[in-house]
Amino acid sequence: MTGAIAQKGLAREFWKRKPLKKMNDAEWEALCDGCGKCCLNKLEDDDSGEVALTNVACRLLDDATCRCVHYENRRQFVPDCISLTPDNLDTHAYWMPQTCAYRLLFDGKELPEWHPLITGDPNSVHKAGVSMQHRTVSEFSVPEEDWEDHIIEEPT
Ligand code: SF4
Ligand code: SF4
Repeated sequence: MTGAIAQKGLAREFWKRKPLKKMNDAEWEALCDGCGKCCLNKLEDDDSGEVALTNVACRLLDDATCRCVHYENRRQFVPDCISLTPDNLDTHAYWMPQTCAYRLLFDGKELPEWHPLITGDPNSVHKAGVSMQHRTVSEFSVPEEDWEDHIIEEPT
């Protein structure tokens, strides 16, 4: 999901007035704060359904920018990368990061004060310390059987 940046030309505080399913593409994409947390590998307990976050990032995540390095054609490299849409958000919200704007709005909550749509600064997510900037290791360097050793608390 880390391909969008906050865009100009959007109606003021559209997220407070428009339901998620009524948003246009630009509004939908602008909700992404660029935290990079949805591009981390997760471990899900089959029995409890509990989801644990690791700091082991998808091979295409840039640790410095928290952006996908091949967002437009990422499926050529990562076929199972999920495209979040208004229609499938209900099936994914449960594993999305606590601070993710899509999850927050889906749960009827407000955007945090550091969100780039509110600050006007795409870097405010990093300045607030809630992104994965400089905190990940690549999945190339950690075998899957060792991911358990990389479980982290979500920075919030
Ligand atoms: S967790 Fe949400 S806000 Fe953060 S990069 Fe992914 S889609 Fe964007
Ligand atoms: S391919 Fe990887 S880095 Fe790119 S958006 Fe998907 S999960 Fe994130």
